[in-house]
Amino acid sequence: MTEAPLAISVDLGGTRLRAALITADGNIVKRAETATLASSGPETVLQQIEALAKDVAQTVEPRQICGLGLCAPGPLDTKAGLALSTPTIGGFTDFPIRALLAQQVPWPVWLENDAIAATYGEWKFGAGQSSENLVYITASTGIGGGAVVDGNLLHGRKGMAAHFGHMTIAPDGPLCACGNKGCWEALASGSALDKRAKTIGLSNARAVFTAANNNNTEARRLVDETAQWLGIGLVNLMHLYSPDCLIIGGGLSNGFDLLSVGISQRVKNAAMPPFQNIPILKAALGDNSGLIGVGTMVFDRI
Ligand SMILES: [Zn+2]
Repeated sequence: MTEAPLAISVDLGGTRLRAALITADGNIVKRAETATLASSGPETVLQQIEALAKDVAQTVEPRQICGLGLCAPGPLDTKAGLALSTPTIGGFTDFPIRALLAQQVPWPVWLENDAIAATYGEWKFGAGQSSENLVYITASTGIGGGAVVDGNLLHGRKGMAAHFGHMTIAPDGPLCACGNKGCWEALASGSALDKRAKTIGLSNARAVFTAANNNNTEARRLVDETAQWLGIGLVNLMHLYSPDCLIIGGGLSNGFDLLSVGISQRVKNAAMPPFQNIPILKAALGDNSGLIGVGTMVFDRI
């Protein structure tokens, strides 16, 4: 086993809990995951985090580990270490997750929004390396995001910047998990495509991509519809941030090649000409963007 300093990263999702041991250059030394007991209350989830972190740490000397980075879905007050109102995990309301976890483990603990952590991972080690300006979006159950602006990772007030999924795209659109209508994530996320899939008798987004690859006309129509909604939000982000590149991660990026046709069309129709050649890339680190990001951030903080 390596003697280099290591960090523990934990990526808490509404369905999966992942932990890893990470080197400063973004290599995963050990990885573990389990199902999140999201409806069993915050104390149970906290115990799960502690157990999984200690599990990945047990094969190395404790002094080799310099900290633990935890990322979770927002909104979080990452500066105060609080989960403010995480819709997918029961009881995560004004929950002082960082302080409580720090009492249970022998390492300093930092809290980060999961999409901002993934943005950092893709910036340092993935599709956005060497960019001074980038926008990352993750489209799965919802849509999250992050931005690097003039060489700095954007955090904003309370660390809550870049909740791109809640931009209103269609004021009379479908209801969003946040309570508003027509948010980007209610129209363009993986769950939005899951819902559209049912209208043509398919089970989910993945089935739509498979059918579209087999030239099923209805499936192709749904892919195009989703691509158009994705494109509308991406054009807004291009105009807002003028990034060197836009990176798409999350479950929907499994259909990246299919979606990118419609997205490019939308960009061509709606972006001002000087913005039209901004590259749109698929995330390079897959499921591990958040884990690698939040782990390597620890080395910058110590
Ligand atoms: Zn919303």
